[in-house]
Parts: sequence; C-alpha cells; structure tokens
Amino acid sequence: MNPYWLEEETPPRRQVQHTGRVDVAIVGAGITGCSAALRLAEAGLRVRVHDQRGVAEGASGRNGGFALRGGATAYDVARETYGVEQARDLWGWTERALDRMEDLAGDALRRPGSFRLAADAEEREQIEGEYTALRADGIDAEWVDDLPGRLAGRFDGGILHPGDGSLQPARFVRRLAARAAEAGAEIREHDRVDDVTVLDADAVVVATDGYGHGLVPELADAIWPTRGQVIVSEPIDRPLYDRPHYARHGFDYWQQLPDGRVLLGGFRDVSIMDELTDVEITTPTIQASLERFLGELIGEEPRITHRWAGIFGLTQDMLPLVGRVPGRDALWVAAGYSGHGNVLGFACGELVADAILGQTAPQLELFDPARLV
Ligand SMILES: Cc1cc2nc3c(=O)[nH]c(=O)nc-3n(C[C@H](O)[C@H](O)[C@H](O)COP(=O)(O)OP(=O)(O)OC[C@H]3O[C@@H](n4cnc5c(N)ncnc54)[C@H](O)[C@@H]3O)c2cc1C
Repeated sequence: MNPYWLEEETPPRRQVQHTGRVDVAIVGAGITGCSAALRLAEAGLRVRVHDQRGVAEGASGRNGGFALRGGATAYDVARETYGVEQARDLWGWTERALDRMEDLAGDALRRPGSFRLAADAEEREQIEGEYTALRADGIDAEWVDDLPGRLAGRFDGGILHPGDGSLQPARFVRRLAARAAEAGAEIREHDRVDDVTVLDADAVVVATDGYGHGLVPELADAIWPTRGQVIVSEPIDRPLYDRPHYARHGFDYWQQLPDGRVLLGGFRDVSIMDELTDVEITTPTIQASLERFLGELIGEEPRITHRWAGIFGLTQDMLPLVGRVPGRDALWVAAGYSGHGNVLGFACGELVADAILGQTAPQLELFDPARLV
C-alpha cells in the first residue's frame, strides 16, 4: 500500500519538548488533533500531541481529498432530522471552516466546487430533493443537467456545490502540525497511548476517529471503525474531471489531481459488512470494482500506481462526537465524522479546543457525545 498523498516530503517542524505535566494531551496527530493543538497552543496552553504513527498517517493522509461543506448526510435529510435552523447553521459553520482552511493551506487546497451526481433516475429524484432544500434555505447550489465530457449520458444530472475544495490532505495536516509546533505544541510521533489515564495532563482529547477503537471503552459502541479503499492511476495527459465528483450516495468518489492522475475511492457497498473493520488492508473484491470503474471513467485501462486502505469512524446518526466523554473527568473526544472529516475534523478540532477553553457553541449540543454513549 502506498498512499499517494504521503509520498511528499514532510516540511521541517520546530521541535518542542515540554517537561512534566501539560495542560492538554491530545491522542492523534491527524487533522483533528493538529487543529485542536494549534488552537490551544495559540491560546497559550501547554499542549502535547501523541501519535502511534507519524503526523497525518491515519485517515488524514489516506482519504479522497474532498473538502466538502456540510455534514455526512444530505442536506434535506439533515434538515428533517435536526431542523432547518440547526442544519443551516451546520452548513454555514463548515463553509466558514473551509474559508479558514484556505487561509492556512497555501497550495494544499483548491476550491473548484464539487459535483454531486445522480447515477440513475431514483438518485436524481433524491438529489433534486436535496437541491430544493438547499435553495429554500438560501444555501448556494447549482443544478446541472448538461453534464460535461465523459459524464454526459452516464449520469442523470447533478448538484454543483460552489466553494467546495480539493485538498492535498497530508500536505495540509503536516503544515498544520508545523504551525502548531511553531505556536508551542509538542508533537510526539511513534508514541502509542494505551491508557489515557496515565497521560501527564490536566485534560486529554481523544482525536483518533476510526483508529482508536477500544482506547476509551465508553466510545467503542458509538464510533465504528470503517474501512475505505482508494486507487490512483498514472498521470493522464488530458483534462477529464475539473473538480471532485461523487455519485451513488457518495459510495463512489473521484477527482483528477493536478498532475493528471485520477484518484478513485469507494465501492464500500460491494461488501459492506466486511468493511466494518479497522484492519487496514486492501481487498481483491473492492479493488476489482474500483479498477473496472476507473477504466470507465478514463475511457481506457490505465496503469494503477497507488492503492491503499484507511479507516474512518462511523456513527449511528452520521454526526461526530465532540465534547466531554460522559462519566469521565477531563476526558474529551472529537471524532466520528462518518467519512466526511476533512472539513469537519478541522472544525471539530477547533470546537473541542474552544470548549476546553470554556467557550460554548451550538454545535456542542448537536455533537454531544452523551447522545450515543
Ligand atoms: C479511504 C478514505 C477516504 C476518505 N475520503 C474523505 C474525503 O474525501 N473527504 C472527507 O472529508 N473525508 C474523507 N475521509 C474521512 C477523513 O479522512 C477522516 O474523517 C479524517 O481524516 C479524520 O481525521 P482525524 O484527525 O480525526 O483522524 P485520523 O487522521 O485517522 O488520525 C487519527 C490518529 O490517531 C492515531 N492513533 C490512534 N490510536 C492511537 C493510540 N492508541 N495512540 C496514539 N495514536 C493513536 C492514529 O495513528 C492516527 O494518526 C476518508 C477516509 C478514508 C479512510
């Protein structure tokens, strides 16, 4: 397995070492942990981040690179489930998070918008419902019937979400880690935590998304580790897809990268129960489905240069858990983005940091871990 994003060299980072007890220990140096570390360190707290691997080597360096606003469910479903006001606030909150990511990202983020496509008439009806709800609530979205290039004839229209982005996630998170270190955070890589109660810190944040299963027993039934698989082609010398695309309820997602490669992930539904696992391996069944579809997307059988698996945390209501772990003193969690953690993870890292700093926000109610723990 060779996650494409992680091949880049890590930028230099200030080496910080705190002696003794810190204000906050964070488990997990992905987008959530690094975002929280930056916020807390900038507020003047002593922060130590622990990761069993290197920075961004979990899902944050193994994902599809889609930086999408909103939650993991469709907008109309979100609206029905937790009300117009909460849904609209959540979408706006993530749009503002994307703007802040852009300020920090440099060339790790482009914002060409994203394309949510209908694979058939049934899906078209569903996403027409989402489009109507978005427009009714004043959220910018565009319906497209005349699909360009290879999409025409294969897909039945789609929603263009302006402002969404394509992220080089490992580059972004490594930069975030460097900023956090610059602000005074200690980042300890290859440092596994087996027991959160022995960390020498006044507060602990668990930011392990799908990887930390079992670390906090109370969370074990609330966040289910789920595997996703991705392949990347050799560079294709013609422009095919100018933004992130996703179809079949988000089960298939692809984009062409700046160097011409086409990245494709998904097909989890081909063997959905097998993918409820934290075993980080690729499987022949899903890889074969990915390869077949990649050939269709490109119009020829490309050479595949990269394949990998990653684990994300799925929750029953598709909303993350952010806040105190019920029944535990000074133990916090920010995790469970249900495969939608690039923007949510960044925003929830900040959210949990602000909560530790004593600030309240409406999202803390929506994401309260007590609803599932
Ligand atoms: C294949 C795939 C495709 C995806 N595509 C997208 C996408 O296109 N767009 C999107 O928004 N989201 C996507 N996601 C989801 C997104 O990647 C994650 O939600 C997000 O990266 C979570 O970030 P995180 O920092 O919370 O967790 P992670 O990045 O997973 O980081 C958790 C870290 O915790 C560490 N850790 C775990 N246990 C311990 C321990 N006991 N001690 C020390 N360290 C520990 C791990 O090593 C890991 O580095 C995808 C996920 C996968 C797997």
